[in-house]
This record gives sequence, C-alpha cells and structure tokens, in this order.
Amino acid sequence: MDAIIISIGSELTTGQTVDTNSAWLSQRLAEAGVRVLRHVTVPDEVAPIREAFERAASEAAFVLVTGGLGPTADDLTRDALAAAMGVGLEMRAEYVERIRAFFDARGREMPEANRVQALFPAGSEPIENTCGTAPGIRARLGEATVFVMPGVPREMWVMYERDVRPVLASHTGGACMLAATLYCFGAGESDIGEVIRDLMARGRNPAVGTTAKQGVIGVRVHAWGDRRDDASAKLEATVAELRGRLGSLIYGRDDDRVAAAVAELLKAAGRTVATAESCTGGLIAKELTDIAGSSAYFREGLVTYANEAKTRLLGIPTEVLAKCGAVSIEVAEAMAVACRQFAGTDYALSVTGIAGPTGGTAHKPVGLVYIGLADTAGCRVTEHRFGEFLARDEIRERACRTALNRLRLRLLGAN
Ligand code: ATP
Repeated sequence: MDAIIISIGSELTTGQTVDTNSAWLSQRLAEAGVRVLRHVTVPDEVAPIREAFERAASEAAFVLVTGGLGPTADDLTRDALAAAMGVGLEMRAEYVERIRAFFDARGREMPEANRVQALFPAGSEPIENTCGTAPGIRARLGEATVFVMPGVPREMWVMYERDVRPVLASHTGGACMLAATLYCFGAGESDIGEVIRDLMARGRNPAVGTTAKQGVIGVRVHAWGDRRDDASAKLEATVAELRGRLGSLIYGRDDDRVAAAVAELLKAAGRTVATAESCTGGLIAKELTDIAGSSAYFREGLVTYANEAKTRLLGIPTEVLAKCGAVSIEVAEAMAVACRQFAGTDYALSVTGIAGPTGGTAHKPVGLVYIGLADTAGCRVTEHRFGEFLARDEIRERACRTALNRLRLRLLGAN
C-alpha cells in the first residue's frame, strides 16, 4: 500500500515555515504499514497544486494533503482539487452552519470570507474539523483516495487520527511498522557499522541503519509485520541481537540522554554524585538535574571557572595551578577528589579543558579536556582531544557526555 504526501503553501516553498506536517505524516504512515513514495511541496497556485494531485493520484493508492484550506484568496487547494477531478465546487449549507457555530461558540461573528470553507468539489466528502474552521476533504481521484487536511499542525493531527488512520488501517489489514533507536557512545559510526554489518543488509526486515550526531551513534531499527505482535517480535529479536553485539556501548533506547542512563544506575545502586566543572560551566549538573527526581542522587555542582575559585572552593593549591596549569591531569584529579570529599558523595566528576576558540597552544590545543572521576577507590583522570575543528559548544557538549559516560561505565563495572 503506497502513499504520496503533498504539502501546500508558499510559506513552505519560500522556506519561511518548515514542513513538519510531512515528517509527522510519514512517521504515522510507516507505523500504519503504508509505504511513502514521495513528499511533494507546492506553492499556493492552482496549476502546480493540480498537477501534483494528478501525478500523485496516478502513482499511489492514497494521497495525503495538508494546507491551503483557509478562507483567504491564496487558499486554493479546494479549487485545484476540483479542477483535477474535472468537477465544480458546491456549497454545503450544513458546513456554513458548522463554521458559524464555531465562531458563535467564541462569541464572534463569522466573517463572510469563511463561507468559502463550506465549498467542496462535487462528489467529495467533507471531513469534520473539531479544532478549527477548515473542514477537510475526502475524494476519489482516478484510482486514488485523496485526504485533504488543514495546514495547522494540531488540526491536522486530530483529523488524521480520527478520520484518516482508521481508513488506512482497514486497507492494510492490521499490518504495521514498529521502530526503536539504540543510542551508543564511545565508538565511531564505522566501527559500529563493522560489528553490525550483516544486520544492515539492504532489504532485511527489520531494517537497521545508523545516524551520527555529536559522537552519539543512533542505531535505528524498523520492523514490519502483518500484525502488531509480529512486528514487535521481529523488532525485539533484532534489538536483543544488537544489545548482544554492542554491549555497554549502548546507553539508551529511544532516549539519547546519557544522563538518563546514569540517573537510573545511580538510583538503582543508591549512590550519589557531585560535580566540579570548569570548561563545561555547569552543563553536567544541568544534564543530571534535568531528570525529574534528581535529588535522589545529585548533591551539588560547583562551577570553578577562575583559578581563584578552584583554590577558594576546592582548596587546589596555587602552586599546583601555577606549575601544571588549570588544564592538567593534576588539577582535574584535585578537583574531583576535593569535590567528592566536600560533598560527601560516592562519586565526583570533574572537568577542565580548553573549549576555544581562543586559548589554545601547540602543547595544549583547543579541544583538550581532562575528566576526573573520583570514588572510594581513588581518582582516575582521562585525557581527551576532541579536535580544534569543533565549535565551543560542541567541545563542551562532547566533554559533558564523555564525563557522564565514564560514570555510567563505572556504575556498570565496565571501567
Ligand atoms: P486553516 O484554515 O485552519 O488556517 P489551512 O489549511 O489554510 O488551515 P494554511 O493556511 O496552509 O492552513 O496554514 C496555516 C498555518 O499552519 C501556517 O501558517 C503554518 O504555520 C502551519 N502550516 C501549514 N502547513 C504546514 C506544514 N506543512 N508544516 C508545518 N506547519 C504548517
């Protein structure tokens, strides 16, 4: 079962509005077991809209359309659909009354312009809009069924769920697609690709693919089945296979926050953590406290940015700072150890580094970061060179994620 999605609006073709409707619909159609052949975006002009309708209807069983149903002169979707169907527009008196009732309920008088929203191509069926004034349209165009929905995302979501999805489901006979993403950190996309190469073979069901963003590799799994339980069994079998192969590289399923994984592990172990941050400026503390219920494991976070603050708040000797420099193994270690001691926590994380774009030297380039992790066994510092080509924000985020991942692996007993 194939579909084509058409989004209509000059604000879309000029780039003023990002077409989120097509992405949303594509996800829903995939879940419903419908293959999307294409997204088409056209401006508010009758000829291109009509042409898009005719072409789509000759290629797909379903054509899903959003936008251009408003009351103004540039809302031309209904005219273009009527032209493609070779029919005229008919006024449906009951819809004039429904639109009037929508305005009455808000204590407003219906503008005359809104009457055009009660015009429908002859032979088509109106679809009620429960959250706005523009009714949708269901029509036959050649062999295809066309659903036209409003452009306003919330109105479209409601109409799709209520009036479109059940029709699609009755045609696909319960077939569905389920998806899951496993998030990995600590290895590159090509290394991960090597380990799971056979699972990524084209045409496999479930399909497996990877995406990379800021050092996080997302391994995405799509499983199709004739029924939901069939798709689910296929999905879970591949997820289990991936878990077996990638082990502790995987930190989350459908949640790309390393802090969420750390929070679960800290809570399960009844352990606590504190942070002492320099170049990340409190990012690690923010990530940890973004998770609801974080007071169970997060005690405090210091942002000791200036050398003077490192000495005053953490007791780092001025001689160590002068001799080794603020960005050094020694200072990262002293920060983590002192932080853990002062906060009285099981773990402490520290970060000191050069986020750039200035401040780097040949010996200590931009992107050099030291991360300390202290616990009862002592403190281990790791050195990271994230690369001078990264922007300041990217270096800070990478440092934050790396620090949290070190704590995650420690909690798993994996480092
Ligand atoms: P209504 O009459 O209820 O406004 P409409 O069908 O006329 O519905 P449009 O005028 O095309 O809808 O768009 C209304 C608003 O909806 C736009 O200003 C835009 O913010 C949003 N919108 C339209 N199309 C899209 C899209 N494809 N993706 C995201 N937002 C969209």
